[in-house]
Amino acid sequence: MEDWQAEGPDADVFDDLPAPVVCFREGTIIYANEPAAALLGAPTTSEVIGSSIFDFIHPLDRIRIANRLRWLKPRKGAYPVIEMLIRTRQGDLRGVSASARTSNRLRQGIVAVLMDITHRRLKTYLQETERNIVRLFENTTDIYYRIDAQGKILMASPAVERILGYRSDEMLGQDSSVFYADPDDRERFLSVLRRDKSVADYEVQLRSKHGALVDASISSHALYDEAGNYIAVEGVIRDLTERKQLERKLHVLATTDELTGISNRRIFFELATQALHRASRHGRQLVLLILDIDWFKEINDRYGHLGGDEALRAFTLAVKDELREIDLFGRLGGEEFGVVLEDCPPHEGESVGQRIRLRVEGLQVSPRDGEILRMSVSIGATCNRLQDARIESLMDRADQALYRAKSDGRNCLRWYADTR
Ligand code: GH3
Ligand code: MG
Ligand code: MG
Repeated sequence: MEDWQAEGPDADVFDDLPAPVVCFREGTIIYANEPAAALLGAPTTSEVIGSSIFDFIHPLDRIRIANRLRWLKPRKGAYPVIEMLIRTRQGDLRGVSASARTSNRLRQGIVAVLMDITHRRLKTYLQETERNIVRLFENTTDIYYRIDAQGKILMASPAVERILGYRSDEMLGQDSSVFYADPDDRERFLSVLRRDKSVADYEVQLRSKHGALVDASISSHALYDEAGNYIAVEGVIRDLTERKQLERKLHVLATTDELTGISNRRIFFELATQALHRASRHGRQLVLLILDIDWFKEINDRYGHLGGDEALRAFTLAVKDELREIDLFGRLGGEEFGVVLEDCPPHEGESVGQRIRLRVEGLQVSPRDGEILRMSVSIGATCNRLQDARIESLMDRADQALYRAKSDGRNCLRWYADTR
């Protein structure tokens, strides 16, 4: 004997009833007759028994029905009719009205008679759904949009006004390429969409009504008619402005030296490594200079730490002025700096280094009224060799050359012994 029979109605009294009947206790179905199984889309009654009634109740209706069941329990004999939406085992939507009461014979279980009211109930369901979608459409912070096969905008949600400055009715009928900062971006986006049918988080720059660039990401999919013809694109545009600004700020913080604004040690090594690999690949010459300001401890002692800082900033500006845009210049730490000159033979490296040295020698900083701070710099130089795989090898040689420059009396440039 099956479980439900042990607990269910004694004499299968509902078996022959033409109306759908289900009995359940604590939400679990303990009996269903054949019309009920048919209504729930199950081939046999035993497929339904043991399931939760909430497996069939549509998510939109679950809370309402759970509340009603709590309400029903203490009111024996009540026959309130309630309407709900159910989803059958096949996934079809149906409208059902249910009359229920608790039953002593079922040991406080509930017996319910169901009626199929799909026709009536679905109409209200559609209205509710539409209201939900409209609310979502109007309140979402992203732009929901649809564009026809010719690229004309069919709809855009009100968020477009905040993000791009257009009222949503202004957008209608306009060509979507207008909103791309680079019109080719739209072609690129569409070719990805045609290939993959949908695109997620595609990053582009859009242009607002007032001309400002807006970083955005687009997620969308292509829509096809029944014959398989491409008819429209539908998707969501998300404003990335804040995230991009934060990313740029973090990138700057992570790669620049705070005091001087030039590359920090980490990024200098990274960029110098890339430059070395380029030079090796193309068989080009590259020069690395290490610059160390002379007697800097004394500068600090005489002019204070803030005076020293000012000297470091003035030094940086002066050196930068002697370099080309493409040369690498970074602060390695303290008063020590690195310069990488790409595509540069040693004699040119020598003249750049000497220019820097003379420029620093002539530099006059005025940390306090009436005071003039002067400095000089020592430079160690080396160029790349065939076997150099790591920038550290060049650093090492330039360091040794710098040591010689210091011991030779400072304010001079020395090459690593056999690089020239
Ligand atoms: P040398 O000619 O041998 O290079 O002598 P030096 O005094 O420059 O030698 P050293 O490299 O030992 O001294 C560097 C000093 O730079 C020590 C440190 O207090 C100072 N320093 C490092 N970073 C900063 C900074 O950010 N600001 C200032 N004002 N001083 C710094
Ligand atoms: Mg020094
Ligand atoms: Mg030093």
